[in-house]
Amino acid sequence: MSTFPGPRTPTLQVRLLVLVLAAALPFGYGAYHRFLPDTDRPTPTSSSGERLVMAPLQPPSDPRYVFREYQPQSREPVAFDPCRAVHYVVRPDGAPQGGLALITGALADISAATGLQFVDDGTTDEAPSEARPNFLPDRYGDRWAPVLIAWSTPAEFEPLSGEVIGVAGNAPVATEDGQLALVSGQVVLDSDQLTDVLKFVSGRAVANATITHELGHLVGLAHVDDEQQLMFPSARPLVNTLGRGDLTGLATLGSGRCFDDL
Ligand SMILES: [Zn+2]
Repeated sequence: MSTFPGPRTPTLQVRLLVLVLAAALPFGYGAYHRFLPDTDRPTPTSSSGERLVMAPLQPPSDPRYVFREYQPQSREPVAFDPCRAVHYVVRPDGAPQGGLALITGALADISAATGLQFVDDGTTDEAPSEARPNFLPDRYGDRWAPVLIAWSTPAEFEPLSGEVIGVAGNAPVATEDGQLALVSGQVVLDSDQLTDVLKFVSGRAVANATITHELGHLVGLAHVDDEQQLMFPSARPLVNTLGRGDLTGLATLGSGRCFDDL
């Protein structure tokens, strides 16, 4: 958590100080369903998509971007398969006005930066859950569950308690050759707080930045100390677009290996 350097309006300052973007949460970060038995996975499919962006791998020494997790015994980040589309569903309940446009705008930014293709699978009534599995065949069939993007409240989703306005989680799965891959995840947004944010003149940009930040976590970025990056842990009204470090990290996440059976 941190503050940001002084906006001119005292009221704005007070209100914006509470716009704290969530830390990478422990949910989805552990091993609770990383190594699923075969019966708990969808039927593997071959990778068929085409990569949109091929960025050169950067040395992992730039403090402007940090990855959430690395492959075993390497400095290669854990990421979504860049040769497969990332499907997502949105639970629209409680969305602020223009909420869906905010989500699609942030997804477009992340897609442009990573090359990942996001496919809209429509709306859902699925509630966010800290223990959401990657595979929900009763709801989504024989495939990895689509990423869930949901508006919520602290009463429903406890990690949104306090100043947190958004959280993101994912849980990598093991591949046959012992690598890790992201296959699903969720982004949960505080409906009431973001509705308040949108009342400010720059609110839309801050809300977009918040969702982009959470999507950054979803695809594999962690927080950084550089205040010019969107992956800094707190929202700042003057930093609303992806920074150079963010962009390099995202390009790297989108230029990893593809998996034949996942
Ligand atoms: Zn964060």
